[in-house]
Amino acid sequence: THFGFETVKETEKAEKVYSVFETVASKYDAMNDAMSFGIHRIWKDIFIQRLSPTANTHLLDVAGGTGDIAFRFLKYLNVAGNLSGSVTVCDINNVMLDVGRSRAEKLGINGKQISWLQGDAENLPVDDASFSAYTIAFGIRNVTHIDKVLEEAYRVLRPGGRFMCLEFSQLNNRMLQWMYDQYSFQVIPVMGQLIAGQWKPYQYLVESIRQFPNQEDFKYMVEDAGFRHVSYENLSFGVVAIHSGFKL
Ligand code: SAM
Repeated sequence: THFGFETVKETEKAEKVYSVFETVASKYDAMNDAMSFGIHRIWKDIFIQRLSPTANTHLLDVAGGTGDIAFRFLKYLNVAGNLSGSVTVCDINNVMLDVGRSRAEKLGINGKQISWLQGDAENLPVDDASFSAYTIAFGIRNVTHIDKVLEEAYRVLRPGGRFMCLEFSQLNNRMLQWMYDQYSFQVIPVMGQLIAGQWKPYQYLVESIRQFPNQEDFKYMVEDAGFRHVSYENLSFGVVAIHSGFKL
């Protein structure tokens, strides 16, 4: 956006992402289980274990959708006996947040520990230095400007705060990558059609995974935004990666 306005292509991406999640919201959780054979649950559990939140952690979970990361965060704290700590779930799509709100109600989650906020990861409706942790899980590949999202993450964190991202990444073995590609391109859209009655959103999903930068490239982007001690860890041979960095 050298001219200070969004190009047609950028606006199109944002609109497409919005309608994809509006369309899939009610089937979102079931589809995650089907496509990953339930493994996304384990990835998310590990993600929260790596964050190791404490009673003092005030988390902003961006692109938080239907609340999977937030619920795990609270469960982790409450198992540890810390009935404090809080999470704000921020997502651009109110339909996803609505599904999250009703899930929270069903789970009997204490309303004092969770809040829901509609907002764009590229332009967060949040004060500077107001959170001690920032998470984004399976969200950053959907945004139009990754660098803006990272800049915003840096801005809203307090000094000492931690940035963590869980995202699809690239496999570290060519044979496995080939098998994974076959699965992604041949099987996932068919599953989408069968389970959610929609082909296109799942084709988009697979393409967006292919276009996202690999582990090393994304690490540089996180460093560029000002984060220190940036590292990453592959899960399931790099099907997904956890990136972590600190605002010092
Ligand atoms: N974090 C949740 C999880 O792990 O299950 C949801 C991930 S879902 C694949 C991606 C979410 O990103 C959607 O809920 C979508 O609405 C949201 N999203 C896409 N673009 C966004 C943006 N610019 N700002 C905030 N959220 C966005």
